[in-house]
Amino acid sequence: MTDQSGEISKVKQMIEESSRIVVMLGVGAVIESGGENLWSSRECYRIEGIYHKSPDEMMSVGYYSARRDKFFDFYKREIISVDLKPAGLYDDLKRLQARGKIHKIITQSYYDLHNEAGLRDVVELHGNIRRNHCSQCGKEFSVEYIKEAKGVPLCDECKSAIRPGILLFGETIHNDLMTEAVNACEEADLILVLGTNMYDNMVKFCTEDYKSDRVVLITKEDHFTDRYADVVIHGRVSDILPQVM
Ligand SMILES: [Zn+2]
Repeated sequence: MTDQSGEISKVKQMIEESSRIVVMLGVGAVIESGGENLWSSRECYRIEGIYHKSPDEMMSVGYYSARRDKFFDFYKREIISVDLKPAGLYDDLKRLQARGKIHKIITQSYYDLHNEAGLRDVVELHGNIRRNHCSQCGKEFSVEYIKEAKGVPLCDECKSAIRPGILLFGETIHNDLMTEAVNACEEADLILVLGTNMYDNMVKFCTEDYKSDRVVLITKEDHFTDRYADVVIHGRVSDILPQVM
């Protein structure tokens, strides 16, 4: 591994000087918390082997509408049954938040790790598995209700299908959430991109107009777009964060 001590002290100083940090949390945060990236080639291969469909297809709004039983079979087994525990990075972010450093946290994860860890000011671009509602009357349901339902979970009032509280493929991110995320980035004095890469749609979209030399990328894998960040540190986010704060 190359010596990254120069980058580490640079980022430490950047964090020291900042008071409006925007954190972008990628799939790496879920993986460090014990999850898998469903869209990694290994997972896609495994899922196609079991379900004969890609995760994209099964997590699409079309599949939810047309094959609701199969959608929920997949959703219950592969999405909401995953056992996660917030990785160390969540504690580090909580400490930064307590120091008044963080302006907003933006995430694409639909898992509730940030709330479990007690983080505030989180923009959940892709929703949250814990917030489900009846597609007809709007009554809200817990994720446990979905887990325990046999087959398609139905509303106990009007018997309509329950809609999971996450963004499905083929849907667009809610405008208000996108605006909140983009505005937060414009107001930021430092952007920390954690556990993803600069090619990530969330990162591309939110940092497009960010005119500054203060975008820091901390992630495990290198990627050809790393050069779009001003400072790059490779490693597990939970290992690196304590060293830069
Ligand atoms: Zn209902």
